[in-house]
Amino acid sequence: MKRRQFLKNATLSTAGLAVGSTLIACAEDPKTNKPIITNKTAATLPIVIATWDVKLATETAYKVLENGGNALDAVEAGCKIEEANEKGQSVGKGGLPDRDGNVTLDACIMDKNGNCGSVVYLQNVTHAISVARNVMENTPHVMLAGKGAEQYAYELGFKKENLLTEASKKAWEKWKVEAKYKPIINIENHDTIGMIAIDKNGDISGACTTSGLAYKMGGRVGDSPIIGSGLFVDNEVGGCVATGLGEEVVKTVGSFLVVELMRQGKSPQEACEEAIGRIVNKPNSDYKNFQVGYVAVNKQGETGSFGIHQWFSMTKYQDGKNENIQSKYIVKA
Ligand code: ASP
Repeated sequence: MKRRQFLKNATLSTAGLAVGSTLIACAEDPKTNKPIITNKTAATLPIVIATWDVKLATETAYKVLENGGNALDAVEAGCKIEEANEKGQSVGKGGLPDRDGNVTLDACIMDKNGNCGSVVYLQNVTHAISVARNVMENTPHVMLAGKGAEQYAYELGFKKENLLTEASKKAWEKWKVEAKYKPIINIENHDTIGMIAIDKNGDISGACTTSGLAYKMGGRVGDSPIIGSGLFVDNEVGGCVATGLGEEVVKTVGSFLVVELMRQGKSPQEACEEAIGRIVNKPNSDYKNFQVGYVAVNKQGETGSFGIHQWFSMTKYQDGKNENIQSKYIVKA
């Protein structure tokens, strides 16, 4: 049976069945309620994918999974690597500030049960992703913002840190002279780490963390902490994370769209391409002047990635191989 037809026919819940460390696509037969196993090539588990070239982060996540850890632990551990990396100026410590010189972080996380947690406009705390996980697991809320999020982090024992490194301060001071204190949204000043993992049980989790658009207006929040925009996971279908100009992702509820397209039978690659299409095909879209990229994986372990501009890539760790893969794109560099 063709995969699309199979998915169409599977009117009851679809699910992934992990056999040993191999994932086989399956669903319940509506008549017998018994699982139907597709003849699709089985993917080897675990799998980690991430936006951009972040091999140390994917390696860290993969090690968690190899040691029997779950997908949620893996994506948190992977994202923390980039948050702590002061040289990366778009995530965590050392992130480029807003136009007033404040580094403000956004992050969200989602588990296999559809639970989610998020922090927006978090200051002075490096590991926004861990605070988001705590919001998910230890509060009755989904999202904490600003001072409330920061206060909560201190209550949890996170330490207060100055996130504006000398290098980021210098870059901001240079920008102030050149930009005449106007926020400029161009293709060079954003990058986010988004990560999705499937563990040995076939369960999916995702995480997304960023310092947002460099030199943004004070108070600006993008897609990265918004469930459905920057990140979405459905353990029956797959997961997707976004990077790039958050405003465009929010307007199209990008990650949710990708997962829903996969639910309807599109491959991760087709789904990412269609979601980018929704952005660039808008009347008067200025897409040549901004970047948006998606990476996605489905329950069967197939992956896809697509960016508007050529300089987007996905890092994928699977079968013991950690690779940075050039994404397909619309605009050549
Ligand atoms: N998506 C992030 C935002 O708009 C930026 C990025 O990916 O770098 O805040």
